[in-house]
Amino acid sequence: MLSTYETTRIESMEEFGFGPNEMKKYKVCSHCYTITSTELDVCPVCSKGLPQLSLYELYAKKHFSCPHCKTVLSNDCRYCPQCGEHLLY
Ligand SMILES: [Zn+2]
Ligand SMILES: [Zn+2]
Repeated sequence: MLSTYETTRIESMEEFGFGPNEMKKYKVCSHCYTITSTELDVCPVCSKGLPQLSLYELYAKKHFSCPHCKTVLSNDCRYCPQCGEHLLY
């Protein structure tokens, strides 16, 4: 259930160059995949309820991120470039 939905959105994010701060302002309808503001509870396109997670939270769940500051990192990072947190595996 999550895979198509997440993959579609992640491709869009990369295409549009959303950074973490932008991604926190948006979420995506899990029914019609419209990107909406996190302030909305109901999709303006299909009128179904929107998920609670923002795009950023979806992205962070799917990718490895710093446990301290939540910056999304590549899997081979040994420490967080944002806050300096040492990362253990
Ligand atoms: Zn919708
Ligand atoms: Zn960090």
